[in-house]
Amino acid sequence: MRTLTGYDVVVVGAGNAALCAALSALESGARVLVLEKAPAYFRGGNSYFTAGGFRFPYDGLEDIRAVIPEMADEEAASIEVGSYPQRAMYEDIMRVTEGLSDPDLLQAVVSQAYPTIQWMRAKGLNWVLMYGRQAFEVEGKHRFYGGLITEAVGGGKGLVDGLFKAAEEQGAEVLYDAKTNRLVTDNSGRVTGVVAQTPEGRTQIEAGAVVLACGGFEANPEMRARYLGPDWELAKVRGTRYNTGDGIRMALDIDAQPYGHWSSCHAVAWDLNAPPFGDRNIADLFQKHSFPLGIVVNSHGRRFLDEGADFRNYTYAKYGREILKQPHRAAFQIFDSKVTHLLRDEYHISRVTKGTADSIGGLADALEIDREGLVRTVEEFNGSVEDGPFDPSILDGKGTQGIDPPKSNWAQKLDSPPFTGYGVTCGITFTFGGLRINARAQVMDTGDNPIPGLYAAGELVGGLFYYNYAGGTGLMAGSVFGRIAGAEAAKEIRD
Ligand SMILES: Cc1cc2nc3c(=O)[nH]c(=O)nc-3n(C[C@H](O)[C@H](O)[C@H](O)COP(=O)(O)OP(=O)(O)OC[C@H]3O[C@@H](n4cnc5c(N)ncnc54)[C@H](O)[C@@H]3O)c2cc1C
Repeated sequence: MRTLTGYDVVVVGAGNAALCAALSALESGARVLVLEKAPAYFRGGNSYFTAGGFRFPYDGLEDIRAVIPEMADEEAASIEVGSYPQRAMYEDIMRVTEGLSDPDLLQAVVSQAYPTIQWMRAKGLNWVLMYGRQAFEVEGKHRFYGGLITEAVGGGKGLVDGLFKAAEEQGAEVLYDAKTNRLVTDNSGRVTGVVAQTPEGRTQIEAGAVVLACGGFEANPEMRARYLGPDWELAKVRGTRYNTGDGIRMALDIDAQPYGHWSSCHAVAWDLNAPPFGDRNIADLFQKHSFPLGIVVNSHGRRFLDEGADFRNYTYAKYGREILKQPHRAAFQIFDSKVTHLLRDEYHISRVTKGTADSIGGLADALEIDREGLVRTVEEFNGSVEDGPFDPSILDGKGTQGIDPPKSNWAQKLDSPPFTGYGVTCGITFTFGGLRINARAQVMDTGDNPIPGLYAAGELVGGLFYYNYAGGTGLMAGSVFGRIAGAEAAKEIRD
């Protein structure tokens, strides 16, 4: 086996969390090697497939303008961003995770989010407001909602390209087609390197410290079935095929502590005919996130969830699981012409499973939904809608009465043809179970002690998300802990 030496920090993976770790270690003067399992063409992991949406707290428009200094006064006058204090972000994540999110880890994310966004900006990353997805026009102004209002310029591709550019300019070496298999430890239990399968064969790479940032197990059907349960092996994977739980397994093999919600994951409504793994040209556009504007039924024509329970940012990640439970793992989102102009960009691509008709019965036929069932459901739904003004930019309280499940906000009768329906299935994004780290991103062992020389960041960290998730937190948490991990790894070597 060949051996590579001379590296201070080896980073496993090359997505958002890994590249933030690399940049941070470089900043501390470390010599850094990044090992990426994918070939160069597929680099960037799940991070590449994202919109680049980052959730962070801010006190008002001035904080947003500090992140987007290019914003002209005219643009600033045309928007309403409100404020999103740290407390609100903390409470939103605690609320959707049923109070289970690890308070120390969550506090680290919330308190370090805004400084980390500024740090990334200083590394050359740029941000824009998410006009298309996170704002509605109200009285001539774009009103942003849901605590997630900015994305990286160029989306996930822009984010990943920007991070690679910065890391390579600052001296990171990147080895592609390098599947890391194993962590190497010395007699004291300290991690001293990794073993990877590379194009030059099996290679041992010695390192002062290792940062694991190589994703969850969402692309591993065996682990999905084992931990998430029956039928999860049948879910479509929204992003990279390379996140097969390797980093988690490697760390558990040396006594790292499993942590978090192993039987749960982030999963969404995803085009019924999407390919089994993500398509880098389509990226996240197979998702269908405007369901709060209409109703969702299964192939029997029955509703099975509250489409308006909350802003989509706080429900979409748990609704994939509900879709997986339906017959044939299929669901249909139904809209009438009153709202079609409000549908997000992803509804307007050509690779979409869609039907249109002038009657509800005709729509059922077009999408192969049980006709009688759908007609009955829509009649019942229309009869249950409460009066009141409809406003998608706030929780408008315009709900239903007397039906189960209810629709709690944005309920409008489906009475204006043409009617449009979109076929969706369950698309898994990433898994919630993983490794226990502390607020310094050190991986903990089963005795609750940090494993010397081992750090982790990104999807493979457990303990932040349970049951559900708040949109834009995955990238933010990965950047925060990636930055901490890189700095702490470099510091450990120096000390
Ligand atoms: C379609 C889609 C849209 C999304 N949109 C958003 C969004 O807008 N905002 C948001 O916050 N989150 C979003 N997410 C979630 C987000 O992608 C993840 O939370 C985040 O990107 C994870 O970053 P990461 O660095 O942990 O993993 P990744 O970016 O997946 O990087 C992991 C890397 O590790 C590599 N790897 C795996 N195994 C090995 C091994 N054995 N050896 C070496 N390398 C290995 C992989 O090839 C990959 O490059 C989205 C996800 C998807 C799929």
